[in-house]
Amino acid sequence: MARPIHAMIDLMALRANVQRVRACAPTQQLIAVLKANAYGHGAVQVAQALAGLVEAFAVCSLEEALELRAAEVVEPIVLLEGFFEADELAIIAQQNIQIAVHSTQQLEILLKSPELAQSLNIWLKVDTGMRRLGFYPKDVATMWKHLQPQFASVRIMSHLACADERDSVSTREQIKQFTTLMNALKTEGSLANSAGVLAWETAHVHWVRPGIMLYGASPFPNTVGSQEGLQSVMTLHSSLISVKTAKQGDSIGYGATFRCPQTMPIGVVAVGYADGYPRHAPTGTPVLVNGRRVPLIGRVSMDMITVDLRTQPNARAGDPVILWGRGLPIEEIAAHAQTIAYELLCNVAPRVPRVWRG
Ligand SMILES: *Cc1c(COP(=O)(O)O)cnc(C)c1O
Repeated sequence: MARPIHAMIDLMALRANVQRVRACAPTQQLIAVLKANAYGHGAVQVAQALAGLVEAFAVCSLEEALELRAAEVVEPIVLLEGFFEADELAIIAQQNIQIAVHSTQQLEILLKSPELAQSLNIWLKVDTGMRRLGFYPKDVATMWKHLQPQFASVRIMSHLACADERDSVSTREQIKQFTTLMNALKTEGSLANSAGVLAWETAHVHWVRPGIMLYGASPFPNTVGSQEGLQSVMTLHSSLISVKTAKQGDSIGYGATFRCPQTMPIGVVAVGYADGYPRHAPTGTPVLVNGRRVPLIGRVSMDMITVDLRTQPNARAGDPVILWGRGLPIEEIAAHAQTIAYELLCNVAPRVPRVWRG
């Protein structure tokens, strides 16, 4: 028998979440963000499930884009960081791949091969406040006349730093700078990530770029996806592989960080940090055993965790466990581990088999 851990990927939920994006942004074009193996959900399977339902995909690198092309995904694919080396450009042009252009180094390389540039659709990345990638708005305004004729198309994109705050002076300022530039240049733009889609209608402009909401998690602190009308896509399943009785005063696991207050049943679950379960999840983090919550106790090991079964004295080895997903919001686990749902999803290890449904 195989080790019981697996991640169920509910493609119906994924498609329902696309409908939620459409409800928020009914007239915009939709770029589904599939970087990092579609946040751990399987980029190829997610792209195939969304074929025809979205206008484009976005990934982080040419390698990620070519994995989709090899699987016969035909939609345009945007490289969010553009290219890294000149020798990527020929294949980018040939494969209907669009690129973010964020640096003068990239522009110099592009303008050295004008015939190639003529066949490229680019997104000039504008830094409206994130202070990460991109040109400042005033520099884009001056570059524009010279640049715009050199490419098949030039659009602009920018990224919001604080869209997960439902009211934020800096977000309002970023949106203002972006739309002012977009209108001055009379070009199309893209600004909204998931939080922008859900909370900042003025950021929707022409193309929205949701990632996390497609996978059913909330981009906002202290809320869960269902409160935003989203359905969780990944459910991480495993089983109890051992149930036994520990005596009062026994300590559990590495570092002996949990001491049993009484003689009690404990269970061992086949999941650990090598599977992507967060090592920093402390005692008390909820785990579903037979559909009911029990607390994790002691430290997370590489391949196992231990749970307190006092509320389930009849639980047995083989009983089903859910670590997050349906019935147990991933945002809650992330909060216990002092991280965000994004990181937990991306960290699900390659050794965890994915099972796609629907
Ligand atoms: C990852 C990413 C997104 C998607 O962000 P979510 O918060 O997951 O919706 C959008 N735009 C860019 C540039 C990104 O890197």
